[in-house]
Amino acid sequence: MNKELLLNNLRNIPDFPIPGIQFKDVTSLFKKPECLKEINDALYELYKDCGITKVVGIESRGFVMGSALAIRLNAGFVPIRKPGKLPAETISESYSKEYGTDTIEIHKDAIEENDVVLLHDDLLATGGTMLAAYNLVKKLNPKNVMINFLIELDGLNGRAIFPEGTDVQSLLTVEGD
Ligand code: AMP
Repeated sequence: MNKELLLNNLRNIPDFPIPGIQFKDVTSLFKKPECLKEINDALYELYKDCGITKVVGIESRGFVMGSALAIRLNAGFVPIRKPGKLPAETISESYSKEYGTDTIEIHKDAIEENDVVLLHDDLLATGGTMLAAYNLVKKLNPKNVMINFLIELDGLNGRAIFPEGTDVQSLLTVEGD
């Protein structure tokens, strides 16, 4: 993988959305065809032999490369969304954020017991969002759940939040806040 290409095109926005946060803006990668292809190829190489049957993307930046990867893997794509967005019967999971709590939802019939799931989001910071997604998907009893991020913030040790032995992979590691 051409990490330099991706790192050189990843825009950092200081103090967004609040002072003190260094926001890693993946739209600066997504708008470039050569970066989209590099990411898509790298993800495909990582997961092509893992038997993934469903890629689950987290709203909303997890939808972009998650759905593109699902097509390459001949897998299905499943969205995890904020409350009230999914039209059929859902299950939900709430989790603590720095200020207050958040909830995410998935369709109850989106995952089956013989599915091998890859959870995907753009960025790992504390890991709170992805842990909630992991717990949500686990409620539907798939065969296996793996986790992927495009970017992992170094120094926060967000990956330590997941149960021991969980397969967690990131394409890029960048300095955290
Ligand atoms: P966390 O739950 O702390 O791991 O935060 C991950 C979620 O928040 C992901 O959906 C990211 O898109 C977003 N996020 C958190 N911190 C940043 C950051 N520094 N730059 C870009 N996105 C971030």
